[in-house]
Amino acid sequence: MAQPKRIAVLGSTGSIGRSTLEVVRASEGALAVDLLAGYRNTAALAEQARAFRPRWVVAADPESAGRQDWSTLPEDVELRIGPEALIETVHQSAAEIVVSAIVGSAGLRATWAALESGKTVALANKESLVVGGPLVMELAREKGAAIIPVDSEHSAVFQALQTGRREEVRRVILTASGGPFRNHSSAELAKVSVADALAHPTWAMGPKITIDSATLMNKALEIIEARWLFDLRPEQIEVVIHPQSIVHSMVEFLDGAVVAQLSVPDMKLPIQYALTWPRRRAGAAAKMDWRQTHTLSFEPPDLERFPALRLGQEAARAGGTAGAALSGANEAAVAVFLEGRLPFARIVPTCEEILKRHSFDPRPTLEQLIGLDGWAREEVLRCLKR
Ligand code: NAD
Ligand code: MG
Repeated sequence: MAQPKRIAVLGSTGSIGRSTLEVVRASEGALAVDLLAGYRNTAALAEQARAFRPRWVVAADPESAGRQDWSTLPEDVELRIGPEALIETVHQSAAEIVVSAIVGSAGLRATWAALESGKTVALANKESLVVGGPLVMELAREKGAAIIPVDSEHSAVFQALQTGRREEVRRVILTASGGPFRNHSSAELAKVSVADALAHPTWAMGPKITIDSATLMNKALEIIEARWLFDLRPEQIEVVIHPQSIVHSMVEFLDGAVVAQLSVPDMKLPIQYALTWPRRRAGAAAKMDWRQTHTLSFEPPDLERFPALRLGQEAARAGGTAGAALSGANEAAVAVFLEGRLPFARIVPTCEEILKRHSFDPRPTLEQLIGLDGWAREEVLRCLKR
């Protein structure tokens, strides 16, 4: 039998991380784990380390790591602690592919480290490209490292793109479920609670992206992600509301042919595709049942009720520091919403205010982008006080 492909799973205790480990489990030895990294949920991390026996396990949050009993870790598993250790271990790991599945802009440094060491990145952390798109893509090119999308829309586009040439692409159509409030009036949106916003109709995901899906900020971030990942002009990216989440996105070619990728909404499929590309294999993802009647519907998004999409288009057009300002503001606004300190309907206007106020730079450095992301967070807290 061929040697297993070794992978690193950063954010292994999260929603994408856990699905990735299910893909590994279903791979019948084709995939093996070299590095597992988590943050606060150290009990789950220790459990995963016992089950998958990676070479390295990194607990990125020192405080949580200090409270955990690690004595049951297998002897051949080496424990490392802290954010710096995470970056060092990404460099040191013998993994061929790094699954970048940390949530938020914290994932950028990890994606960066993986690319710097020439490893292929299976990218779930869209914030890496939203904050640092041009720099991240440039680094990948320079190091000859591939970035394979895990985000279901981008995986669908990536799959569809293989049926034509890049110069034959007319536009890319990203599908959006529309989230739980697709049919809410503005008045109803004003009354949304944290529990309402955490109940997504078609996808089970971590809390931050679930809120992003409810505001449609997730789709805004995905517009920016698609722009950099596929080197598209912003006007080539459209969004269509597709509540069933069966068509994961589409590519329209010059001749008018539209190629779509369909499957049950289950992240194990795009994760596995990123790990086995350019091959496919049988796997753990659920399959479509074609003995049932399916109705697939598509409608244009309402930018009045969901202004996040407009911000996404603006930031994609502006480039430079706009993505970092938008992403940082959003991450902080979502965090304070989840704490019950900001109404749902204020999340996007808060982001807009901060995007407008930041001092735009068309060619920022990585350090500048990381600093700006921090500034945007502080601005959100200052907005709250006002
Ligand atoms: P999650 O909240 O379920 O998991 C996040 C993971 O990151 C956890 O393992 C957590 O321990 C770790 N983490 C958090 N902060 C960290 C830090 N500072 N340093 C190191 N590790 C840290 O999130 P998720 O839903 O799995 O999403 C992960 C990423 O994938 C996000 O960028 C999200 O946008 C993207 N994504 C998720 C889905 C999905 O279905 N869940 C789909 C597409 C894209
Ligand atoms: Mg997505």
